[in-house]
Amino acid sequence: MSTFALAVHGGAGTIPREDMTPAREKAYRQGLEDALRRGHAVLKDGGSALNAVEAAVRVLEDCPHFNAGRGSVFNADGQHEMDAAIMRGNDLGAGAVAGVNNVKNPVGLARLVMEHSGHVLISGMGAFEFAHQQRVPLEDDQYFFDQFRYDQWQRTKGTDTYQLDHSDGERKFGTVGAVARDANGDLAAATSTGGMTNKRFQRIGDSPIIGAGTYANNATCAVSCTGHGESFLRAVAAHDVHCLMLYKGLSLEEAVRTVVHDKLPPLDGDGGLIAVDREGRLVLDFNCSGMYRGHVGADGVFHTAIWR
Ligand code: ASP
Repeated sequence: MSTFALAVHGGAGTIPREDMTPAREKAYRQGLEDALRRGHAVLKDGGSALNAVEAAVRVLEDCPHFNAGRGSVFNADGQHEMDAAIMRGNDLGAGAVAGVNNVKNPVGLARLVMEHSGHVLISGMGAFEFAHQQRVPLEDDQYFFDQFRYDQWQRTKGTDTYQLDHSDGERKFGTVGAVARDANGDLAAATSTGGMTNKRFQRIGDSPIIGAGTYANNATCAVSCTGHGESFLRAVAAHDVHCLMLYKGLSLEEAVRTVVHDKLPPLDGDGGLIAVDREGRLVLDFNCSGMYRGHVGADGVFHTAIWR
């Protein structure tokens, strides 16, 4: 049987080791490992990369430690507006939602956009209406409330600043994503986020934009990004990894290094990304002090890490 591989991330940013307690570190690593386990179970049974990335991201959305689904940050109006995307590499099928409220698992809605809407990206009230039509689970505002997130927002509320969730002074964690290659050789990527604390109402980041924060193409790689979304949008970061491989013949590792360390920094692009290539090679790289991340291959050994 051909090899399969899966990687996940839970956000990147400025993560000083001294702010991390052993209990907190354990909780983050556990969240990452739970996601890997769920995705690995799909791949081990011969399931698709698409199912694996959706399954892994759902676990991270349900975990309040990460800035996606439950645990999403507050925008400037005190709301949780979430973005998510999913893409499969065999036919470039893609679906995304932006600025949605109250949807329990935005990645699941993104997949339904891909499969049942005839569109790629649906935003705001339109996405909410579609969620109703598709009967996806909804939750009230209380479900998304997290005291830490609220306190975090209070510190930036009323200012013109917004911030990467994981670059705040206390707890640090962020956007989530997954990339996979299945035993068939198909690739897929998914990303889900609450965005940035105190972002403007209806601000949309890179995560739901195909090619910026999320991209998959069987010809080269699958990519999920995390970091300062405005920069990743301008760099068209995920698609750029693909282009460097396709048109320049770079390896996955070289292409990721070029984007993360050469192209993003001049655009203030703090962050990182996870990627997998056609052979199932994984690269998890970042240009800041840490990125919550993990990976697993066919050997079933789960690896998680935060710092370099
Ligand atoms: N990229 C996300 C955004 O700008 C934030 C993050 O990755 O933490 O919405």
